[in-house]
Amino acid sequence: MTNIAIFSCPKVTNKLGCSGSDCLDELRNRLGPYEIYDSSESLEMIGVINCPGCPAEADSERIINQVQYLLKFKVEKIHFTNCLSFYCAFRYNYQVLIEGKFPNIEVVQGKYESAVLSCIPKSLNSVKM
Ligand code: SF4
Repeated sequence: MTNIAIFSCPKVTNKLGCSGSDCLDELRNRLGPYEIYDSSESLEMIGVINCPGCPAEADSERIINQVQYLLKFKVEKIHFTNCLSFYCAFRYNYQVLIEGKFPNIEVVQGKYESAVLSCIPKSLNSVKM
């Protein structure tokens, strides 16, 4: 079993009213970024982290504290949502930050294509976050 958490972008969820259902559907069906898991592998979703906001880089301690709390639940992988991986200019900074501080945790970026094709309406693809 692998314990996973999701790291989401509050600007996207607030502005687009995202319920997270597309990401959860991909998780259940091992699609998009969850294709890395074998269908027989059991996944336990242990938590959701919300980015503290742009530019959260200036307050990286908040992200570290959130991840630190997930250690209590033995998190192994943190999946960035598709929308975060589509919009966030800091996504790789955050990956380096988290993996540098927590070497036993792997960050998995969302799939850019999944965000464009599924959960974000085409008319909103140009929304500036
Ligand atoms: S820094 Fe990235 S993830 Fe955080 S609110 Fe801004 S766009 Fe979203």
